[in-house]
Amino acid sequence: MALIVQKYGGTSVGSTERIRNVAKRVARFHREGHQLVVVVSAMSGETNRLLGLARELSSSPDPRELDVVAAAGEQVTIGLLAIALHDLGVKSRSYTGAQVRILTDSAFTKARILEIDDQRMRKDLAEGTIVIVAGFQGVDRHGNITTLGRGGSDTSGVALAAALKADECQIYTDVDGVYTADPRIVPEARRLDKITFEEMLELASQGSKVLQIRSVEFAGKYMVRLRVLSSFEDVDSQSPGTLITYEEDDDMEQAIISGIAFNRDEAKISVMGVEDKPGIAYAILGPIAAANVDVDMIVQNIGASGHTDFSFTVNRSEYRKAMAVLESQRGKSFEARDIIGDDHIAKVSVVGIGMRSHVGLASKMFKTLADERINLQMISTSEIKIAVVIDEKYVELAVRVLHKAFELDKGSHGPSA
Ligand code: ADP
Ligand code: ASP
Ligand code: MG
Repeated sequence: MALIVQKYGGTSVGSTERIRNVAKRVARFHREGHQLVVVVSAMSGETNRLLGLARELSSSPDPRELDVVAAAGEQVTIGLLAIALHDLGVKSRSYTGAQVRILTDSAFTKARILEIDDQRMRKDLAEGTIVIVAGFQGVDRHGNITTLGRGGSDTSGVALAAALKADECQIYTDVDGVYTADPRIVPEARRLDKITFEEMLELASQGSKVLQIRSVEFAGKYMVRLRVLSSFEDVDSQSPGTLITYEEDDDMEQAIISGIAFNRDEAKISVMGVEDKPGIAYAILGPIAAANVDVDMIVQNIGASGHTDFSFTVNRSEYRKAMAVLESQRGKSFEARDIIGDDHIAKVSVVGIGMRSHVGLASKMFKTLADERINLQMISTSEIKIAVVIDEKYVELAVRVLHKAFELDKGSHGPSA
């Protein structure tokens, strides 16, 4: 008997028929004698619909109220799944994030989990009851409903698995694992049987939406055994999906590049003609941080005649806010010739731990993109990643040509799906 946390994403619970299928799968695991905690997302499209309603009423809705609205989607699915399980004669009980007590900080719309009370869940599990928990949501110290950022149900699943010391956390989605690139964009992409935690973290942080980045961070911190699988396959002929591993596997011939990620959710801001002096980065980015806007890539040119251009990227949803902060600080904390923004950019990244021991990968990437006449606006590298910012309209082309250039369709990672 194992304690398993299963998380089902939006498409997997996208209709009552699909919810019934999830119930059947869950019931099957339960019959086999496992203890189950099931985390569900809102039905697909529902979170967007709810947030859209809020935006019809205001261009800048209060984040606390946005969370009240957004969290409603998951509350519906937990109840429906419990009803579907009861209909199959299986004992189950649904809980919102607040009812479990998934305690978070108060950063509405992107709250972080601080603590999970496992008492209620353990009591149910001991009685053989399946516990169903609303993903994506928690509650702060003051009793306010919070949400964990888009895609946050993955994090709910992994955090619950960590809190319960579950044997495995299974993320069920609409693809049968983690691929060398988003299979919607690259049909030749291959499923990886295994991927190292470090690579998964980098892919997620570079925009691979198959797992929310915080879920991967949680998994690493608590060494949660994490697997990505399809909810659309028959349980009896289910593919093993992709296992996130914590040790480099000697048996596995390590590909140099494991995957390609892209992100269309960023915007670029350039502060032109600022004085090239100590403290300038802080003068620009300090107020941005104070406004709780996360900054991703940063590039500062070497300026001529004591002046320089300073560029950085932020999440597209925070682009207007960041521009407003800079305009309000211009002339106060820094002087600038101009502040230019571009919210039609995309970031494309190649990721692989094999990069550590191979040179020339960056030039291969740059040549491949140059051959397609794709201009690189920003470049950043880490030990296991090279990322470039390009015009959004070339993103799919860039991902496809890089996938081919690095021969990811032919790799050594095992069978394709
Ligand atoms: P869920 O609703 O189940 O959370 P998501 O849409 O958030 O599902 O994540 C699954 C999607 O992630 C897939 O449909 C796929 O298009 C996308 N995706 C992006 N990159 C990858 C990748 N490297 N491997 C697999 N899927 C990926
Ligand atoms: N329903 C939320 C979203 O759409 C959380 C999730 O699906 O993981 O972002
Ligand atoms: Mg998701």
